[in-house]
Amino acid sequence: MAKTIKKPAVKKEAAKKTAVVKKEAEPIVAQPPRGMKDILPTDQPYWDQVRRVTEKLSREYGFSRIDTPLAEFSNLFNRSIGEGTDIIEKELYSFVTKGGDKIALRPEMTAGIARAFIQHGMSVLSKPVKLFSTGPVYRYDRPQEGRYREFYQVNYDAFGEQDPILDAQMIQVAARVVQNLGIKAIQIQVNSIGCPVCRKEYKDLLVSYLESKANKLCIDCKRRLDANPLRVLDCKEDKCSQVAASAPQSVDHLCEECRVHFKSLLEYLDELDLPYTINPRLVRGLDYYTKTVFEIWSGSEEGRKSALGGGGRYDNLVKLLGGEATPAIGFGLGVERLIIEMKRVQAKPYKAPKPKVFLAQLGELAKKKSLRLFSELEKNGILVAESFGRGSLNSQLRVANRLGVEMTLILGQKEALDKTVIIKNMTTGEQETVSMDKLVDLVKKKLKTDNVVTYHENHN
Ligand code: AMP
Repeated sequence: MAKTIKKPAVKKEAAKKTAVVKKEAEPIVAQPPRGMKDILPTDQPYWDQVRRVTEKLSREYGFSRIDTPLAEFSNLFNRSIGEGTDIIEKELYSFVTKGGDKIALRPEMTAGIARAFIQHGMSVLSKPVKLFSTGPVYRYDRPQEGRYREFYQVNYDAFGEQDPILDAQMIQVAARVVQNLGIKAIQIQVNSIGCPVCRKEYKDLLVSYLESKANKLCIDCKRRLDANPLRVLDCKEDKCSQVAASAPQSVDHLCEECRVHFKSLLEYLDELDLPYTINPRLVRGLDYYTKTVFEIWSGSEEGRKSALGGGGRYDNLVKLLGGEATPAIGFGLGVERLIIEMKRVQAKPYKAPKPKVFLAQLGELAKKKSLRLFSELEKNGILVAESFGRGSLNSQLRVANRLGVEMTLILGQKEALDKTVIIKNMTTGEQETVSMDKLVDLVKKKLKTDNVVTYHENHN
């Protein structure tokens, strides 16, 4: 008896030991999870350009910035995006927290923004309420070129206006963003998938057509027939494309209200001189869309592997999530895809201002003083480079030369005692000694005469 009691205790102890040993031995994988990546300093000029262009246009078109959490309760996405969609069925990163909450990482931004719109009573604001957001989104997809598991989107949404003039303006903003990034040749695809009333009739028609061709569809599309038949239309499989090519089109089955809405949108786009293509197979993957859907593609054949961005109207989403009925429209652009295309067309990344001044120091006292002097110059909006760790003046001047600065400020032992600084003109080699009190003004004056802009917008 005693033996049988003892045995498991020994086993437990041994198991504990192995668990501890195993934990310690687990190697650190020196890379992020599959489909996720670092954005290195060398690539940041492209990201800076995207940030600058998207934020500038958001201000110019009256959008206010909003940031919502990366994680939300899972059912927000299940309800809004739709249970039968690929994003929810296959791609949602969801987990249960230690406290038992069912949480998911956002696979897109609109659901969280609509949730925030309701929660913060934004429906009382003057309409349309235009919101801009940007950040990472997560989809457990099969990674490949231009398709990642963590990727960034810029997102523009507008709540409270059903007039198609807003649809046209949103498409215009999307096109402006892409073109202002230097991707001049673009293709705008539009379609209308109607409202729940006319879509139901259209769906029935589509399903009976697709059922008659079911043996020609891929396995996924056979499943989609029940869950999300519209999605069969944009399946990339050749055999499904062939079936889709002769399928009934939603634009031919719109109710009067949706038909007029779509017609007016096209007239506004004509008015804006925005060339568009009506793509009857453009349905977008998410359940919440109504009426207008659109996508922005590269205008060139080589760049047209995948969409740069897309969006549409979601007039029923706010109500579905428990808010007042509020028509709305939005779109998201994929930042990585924009950058891939920018590089392909050799669009210019952002060029950060370079320092025109180098601060060199020689000797212990000068070294101490130079730290304060650097910050004095920085506070005055003068961009300065330094190499404080280097002792020899020559090696510091070599760095200054490599950076191509216009002047080097030299602070040696004598200067530090005299409260002076030497200004060396790096083009002519001329040197002058100036008093420390006058240095900032003098440097500013010299930079101005050379037509150099100082980098701080707000000095403090
Ligand atoms: P969607 O709403 O799915 O059309 O996504 C909007 C945009 O986000 C797309 O047009 C792409 O530019 C980008 N995007 C979507 N999925 C991915 C992904 N897995 N990796 C990178 N970018 C993506």
